[in-house]
Amino acid sequence: MINNVVIVGGGTAGWMTASYLKAAFGDRVSVTLVESGKVGAIGVGEATFSDIRHFFEFLDLREEEWMPECNATYKLAVRFQDWRKPGHHFYHPFEQVGSVDGFPLTDWWLKAGETDRFDKDCFVMASVCDAERSPRHLNGLMLEQSYDEHAAEPRGLTMSEHQGKTQFPYAYHFEAALLAKFLTRYSTDRGAKHIVDDVQEVLLDERGWITGVRTAEHGVVGGDLFIDCTGFRGLLINKALDEPFQSYQDMLPNDSAVALQVPFDMRERGIRPCTTATAQEAGWIWTIPLFGRIGTGYVYAKDYCTPEEAERTLRAHVGPEAAEVEANHIRMRIGRTRNSWVRNCVAVGLSSGFVEPLESTGIFFIHHAVEQLVKNFPAAGWNPVQTARYNDAVAHVMDGVREFLVLHYKAAARSDTQYWRDAKTRVAPDGLEERIEMWKTQLPDSETVFPYYHGLPPYSYMCILLGMGGIPLRHSPALDLADVSSAKKEFEEIRLKGDELVRSLPTPYDYFAHMRG
Ligand code: FAD
Repeated sequence: MINNVVIVGGGTAGWMTASYLKAAFGDRVSVTLVESGKVGAIGVGEATFSDIRHFFEFLDLREEEWMPECNATYKLAVRFQDWRKPGHHFYHPFEQVGSVDGFPLTDWWLKAGETDRFDKDCFVMASVCDAERSPRHLNGLMLEQSYDEHAAEPRGLTMSEHQGKTQFPYAYHFEAALLAKFLTRYSTDRGAKHIVDDVQEVLLDERGWITGVRTAEHGVVGGDLFIDCTGFRGLLINKALDEPFQSYQDMLPNDSAVALQVPFDMRERGIRPCTTATAQEAGWIWTIPLFGRIGTGYVYAKDYCTPEEAERTLRAHVGPEAAEVEANHIRMRIGRTRNSWVRNCVAVGLSSGFVEPLESTGIFFIHHAVEQLVKNFPAAGWNPVQTARYNDAVAHVMDGVREFLVLHYKAAARSDTQYWRDAKTRVAPDGLEERIEMWKTQLPDSETVFPYYHGLPPYSYMCILLGMGGIPLRHSPALDLADVSSAKKEFEEIRLKGDELVRSLPTPYDYFAHMRG
């Protein structure tokens, strides 16, 4: 097995990779991480996807050990605000949809739903989010989710079993800089070497393989396997190895963001247990509640909005708390490096690819990449089949997320500005338009969504289609003559369960104050 790994870059990708490799291989693999003292990490990326819980489980960390140090909070869903029309919201939760007689509840809802909230009728978590409750009780006991063997989709993919109970899936929000600091300690305590220095040159042998990186003050750092975590720069993979970057910009036009870190009185104003994505004239604003501040930013397309306009809009959206806060303007590189693993270099994080922050998938890509890297960890012979497998897996997951995000813009009813009107006619990934036509009368199932690797199950597609409201939907013809009484009872039970949880669960603020002692 290769046993000398050099990671260049100490943002979220660099430290997640170092920690994961140390947790996987211990002393069998030496890990050296070089990060610049001058070029900072990107400083955003604070909302995650529910698979992230497996990352912390793999590191053998309990929530009490890392969440307080990272000002972390729980995330049960993405709340989409104003994507259909001003004042409208719905949730895309991590909870899978249940079924009646083999048909997903969402399909039944199209036939027999009697309220304007499909999310509250089909998902318990929508009520918990609206009422701003924590997904755990103060004594640490988890919620129980009834397990429906006949569910249309496999449940449990993102849930972990614990003490015989099944937890409703959730993800985290955390401060990116604090997480990097926490993982620095985690990795170095387990033997990772940490060098703060600038990489000035990447050294290649005659075959084009990397032999080392030359730093400004620490000489050449040599290794067998090099992980490029240098962010959008792609210093090793794109610059030194010349691997091309394939843009997704024709389909996803947002190429810029402006971000603010805003102090926030959580005790007074509460903590929403979800990320909010609020549609704007030329993009959308994220709001991520952390313990002590909110992270917020406007993601926009510069063809439709200037950086000054974007900053003004964001500040107006946040209100007076934002007045003294410095803005961070960011240019985004949307797309993916053609192959993330080339010779003895693997790109992880933004150097590998990024599809804009909607649905919080950047950190999920990092987690997925390091999982795949450990599964396909190279032996001395450098088996090309492993490299190809890895590249297929990474490309597949990013292309899948691209399709899912394009669907958000196509499906949004909003069409009040040129940005939203153009979204409806913009080029789409292969086959998506045809599938949208099909979904109008038959909601997505596992055979009609982008062949899925974990993360994008059909229920997620259903939520977006039902919530965004711009594509006319009809229930499946097979339900035309069906008796709707069982489905209606199920909607009612979900509402009742939601109300019961709202009464018994603590607020996120009380939960985290309790966790912190
Ligand atoms: P960076 O954070 O850019 O780190 C690069 C590192 O490389 C730094 O440590 C730097 O010092 C080092 N470096 C650079 N050059 C050199 C050199 N010459 N020598 C040595 N070191 C060098 N993801 C989510 O999952 N959820 C979100 O909500 C989310 N929101 C986002 C919002 C925006 C606007 C953007 C742009 C991204 C967002 N992401 C999100 C993605 C997420 O931020 C990234 O996936 C994550 O932060 C990883 O970044 P990185 O470590 O790859 O790069």
